Amino acid sequence: AATLVKKLFLSGKMVSINQEITFEEAEEIAIEYEIIAEHEVKVDVIKELLKEEEEDASTLVKRPPVVCVMGHVDHGKTSLLDAIRETNVTSHEAGGITQHIGAYVVEVNGEKITFLDTPGHEAFTSMRMRGAQSTDIAILVVAADDGVMPQTIEAISHAKAAGIQIIVAINKIDKPSANIERVKQELTEYELVAEDWGGDTIFVPVSAHTKEGIEQLLEMIILTSELVELKANPDRNARGIVIEAELDKGRGPVATVLVQKGTLHVGDSIAIGSAYGKVRAMMDDKGRRVKDAAPSTPVEILGLNEVPDAGEIFIATDTEKEARAISETYISQGREKLLEDTKAKLSLDGLFSQ
Ligand code: GDP
Ligand code: MG
Repeated sequence: AATLVKKLFLSGKMVSINQEITFEEAEEIAIEYEIIAEHEVKVDVIKELLKEEEEDASTLVKRPPVVCVMGHVDHGKTSLLDAIRETNVTSHEAGGITQHIGAYVVEVNGEKITFLDTPGHEAFTSMRMRGAQSTDIAILVVAADDGVMPQTIEAISHAKAAGIQIIVAINKIDKPSANIERVKQELTEYELVAEDWGGDTIFVPVSAHTKEGIEQLLEMIILTSELVELKANPDRNARGIVIEAELDKGRGPVATVLVQKGTLHVGDSIAIGSAYGKVRAMMDDKGRRVKDAAPSTPVEILGLNEVPDAGEIFIATDTEKEARAISETYISQGREKLLEDTKAKLSLDGLFSQ
């Protein structure tokens, strides 16, 4: 530590032993000590990952919540996602081209909500396994005539492990055998306690069939997202996650991505795991061509050299060369190793404790 403090002092920076230094300062020292490999590319990857933590609060602006639907099979996840989509479709869109891109955006009183259109936990779990957080709020669907079931419990533990907000939608309240209070009572066992039971979990009784309660559910999502103050910096290279991807016969590799930070533009170079390319065209969830995609926006992109994996992280780069180099580094080193190396090298604690 003394050596480092001295080094910084000699380059004109007065720092104390437990003071934070900038990435550039750390990088300068690390390169000198050959702690960071000569590989410029790797440094760029590391920098990208570091930016996660480094975001300056003044650059952050409000972004829409990203919501997923979870729950036991047959409790109505697909029906609920359809009902929400339908309530929001404007008349000229109704019956028209509702393209499926794995996510869609609804607007409630001028506020947007992004829904991940992949019911079940598969996508969610695979993203989690990659260490990517895709969702802000989980709608836990519980059928009022069936109550808490094994996959309900599984969904609760997934959401809790990921630290995401849970809103309970008690579905199928149109059924004569529906028992809302029983669902509330059963969920108290999992620390999801309704307000009228003395807790602070939001419960909304709904029917995907009659659409009762859907508007209220959407309002509760907006309310919850305002409480947790979701923000992102829109003015930086985009970064996000692949929701789904496939090889299209006519269009080549097509990926639906969720932009989480920054803004993705047509013409941007991007790296996604072992895939890379230049965004040739972008379509929003309504199938319209768009030029830019801000944080929390799902878009379908064309222009990749191969089909990336769902759950993979994408990074927009300044040049195509850089994107290609990142994907090559990824292929040659393997993602796990890259992340491991990065973590080890970024640990300044590790440096100081020697
Ligand atoms: P998922 O497996 O959770 O995606 O459930 P689905 O959306 O496929 O629904 C399972 C079954 O429940 C289907 O037969 C739906 O028509 C039915 N269902 C879903 N929502 C409701 C509802 O609000 N009321 C009634 N009566 N049936 C529903
Ligand atoms: Mg389903």
